[in-house]
Amino acid sequence: MKCYLCTHDTHRVRKGSARDNSSLKILECTNCGLVALDSAAHIGTSHYENSGMHGQALPSMAQWLRDTAQDDQRRFDMLKPAIVNRKVLDFGCGAGGFALKAQTLASSVAGVELEERVHDHWGDALTLHRSLEAAGGGYDLVTAFHVIEHLADPRVMLKNLAACMASDGRLVVEVPSSEDALLTLYANDAFQKFTYWSQHLYLFNADTLRVLANQAGLKVIAVEQFQRYPLSNHLHWLSRNQPGGHQQWGFLDTPALNAAYAASLAAVGKCDTVIAHLEKA
Ligand SMILES: [Zn+2]
Repeated sequence: MKCYLCTHDTHRVRKGSARDNSSLKILECTNCGLVALDSAAHIGTSHYENSGMHGQALPSMAQWLRDTAQDDQRRFDMLKPAIVNRKVLDFGCGAGGFALKAQTLASSVAGVELEERVHDHWGDALTLHRSLEAAGGGYDLVTAFHVIEHLADPRVMLKNLAACMASDGRLVVEVPSSEDALLTLYANDAFQKFTYWSQHLYLFNADTLRVLANQAGLKVIAVEQFQRYPLSNHLHWLSRNQPGGHQQWGFLDTPALNAAYAASLAAVGKCDTVIAHLEKA
């Protein structure tokens, strides 16, 4: 299989398998490091509308919003200066928590989301579109949080997102990192069987995300490491081979400890998340 990013055709098979489809292999390009599933044949027409990928297991929109609240707030805090009095688009806005917060500061906010229940839930309270084309253009800030790793052609999507931006607009792309310490430093078997997912067609790291952005004709302002899960979560994986350590052992998670741990992981590029800040070239 040719690499999507660099077109080389040599890869190694990573340990682990997709948690919901053990026949899918996890391939890592030996040239550029892009991680990809060995097949995207399971992504058919109307896949995203029907997959219920965000929340099949979640009981309600309210629960979904509670689950994303911490990320919504963190992203809002990070981007506040770029939101104030600006025209904002959140592509793949999920439950809409970030868009709702952005509305308090922006001149206008729109979301693009395929899942129908999000449209039903918000009604007129949020401006939501079912496609990028419907969202129009001229956006000062476009965000895509944990979206492009789901897409068969993320490069084209970045180009399309750039086309929606004002000439001095900013695009912020957040993705899970293929270099997550639990995968590439600790090599935790249970995590390797848990984190890979049929919905994540690609996993990027800071380098491959940078290459992708350049191929899409975008200028890379910065690609930053960010650690979403705290030390308690990692210790729990290593000790019990299970998720949820941050709920079970939250007493470990002092801000100082987690900041220091995250900084150590960031220094070696092993955080669980990478965030790219992009502009039109
Ligand atoms: Zn490659």
